[in-house]
Amino acid sequence: MKSASTYRAVQAVSKGKLELTEKPLVDPPAGHVRIRVEACGVCHSDSATVEGILPIAWPRVPGHEAVGRIEVISSGVEGWKVGQRVGVGFLGGTCGYCEYCRDGDLVNCINQGYTGVQQDGGYAEVMIAKASGLIAVPDDLSSVDAAPLLCAGLTTFSALRNSPARAGDLVAVFGVGGLGHLGVQYARRMGFEVVAIDRGGGDRAELSKKLGAHHYIDSSNTDVAKALQALGGAQMVLATASGGKAVAAALGGLRRGGVVISLGATDEPIELSAFDLLFRQLGVDGALTGTSKAGDATLRFSVMSEVAAMIETMPLEKAAEAYAKMMSGKVRFRMVLTMT
Ligand SMILES: [Zn+2]
Ligand SMILES: [Zn+2]
Repeated sequence: MKSASTYRAVQAVSKGKLELTEKPLVDPPAGHVRIRVEACGVCHSDSATVEGILPIAWPRVPGHEAVGRIEVISSGVEGWKVGQRVGVGFLGGTCGYCEYCRDGDLVNCINQGYTGVQQDGGYAEVMIAKASGLIAVPDDLSSVDAAPLLCAGLTTFSALRNSPARAGDLVAVFGVGGLGHLGVQYARRMGFEVVAIDRGGGDRAELSKKLGAHHYIDSSNTDVAKALQALGGAQMVLATASGGKAVAAALGGLRRGGVVISLGATDEPIELSAFDLLFRQLGVDGALTGTSKAGDATLRFSVMSEVAAMIETMPLEKAAEAYAKMMSGKVRFRMVLTMT
């Protein structure tokens, strides 16, 4: 059992292996806070840590959808207070002095670690986080509900908000899964005409409509590009879990000047024609979550507009089981660990 000087955490110790451990409580270094974690989402990107897809120094505690209360504030931290509920996402906090930070491009800070990759994340009762990466959690949002919004929510919200699409434009969300089921909700509430695209009809179509989609395209029996063009062509396609082929196919569904934003982390090459980019002025882009301020906005917007992730929960000590279930694709749609 935990005593006052230690806390429980689940760490990746070798490829594919997560184990429950007890860690000593330490004070946060300057510029950091210590958080008593209440919930942490299990995201597909945790495989970067658990499977060693990114360079990892094991043991490492994964988890970049962490929500909890600040219990210790170190020197040099302004604007946050003890007891405040905060979130920590994938981007672990900016440095404030690199050329990107100095230019206001915070997502691209070159001294920004990834939570749960270079530093321990939220599969734990306690974590330490850089203050510049903290996200404010509104009182009306439970920690469990806030958790998946810190990565899956922020990524889709930020991509939609930063896209060239404006209210009334046709926006398609390719893949109604962990990311896409939030993307459809945000797109609808931002005032777009929303097309959801996934494989299969029936309940997928029904769910998409329930989440706010105006149209549904079953990609298993429909030419996606043709179907989108029949609706006038999309200003933007949010490609959530798709590989390079799906991104290339989505390009055919864009109107002139449209853009495909790829959110699914894959190394599958994207084949496209320079003619399309040139004569139809199409764009392909990616989006890596968002700034901590965009994180604040994601959570506030979610509360105001009643956007919520569909969640399954498991206690921290079952993290290995929760992770395995997420990796098998059997979670509908986000898994969240809870700490008692
Ligand atoms: Zn994530
Ligand atoms: Zn920086």
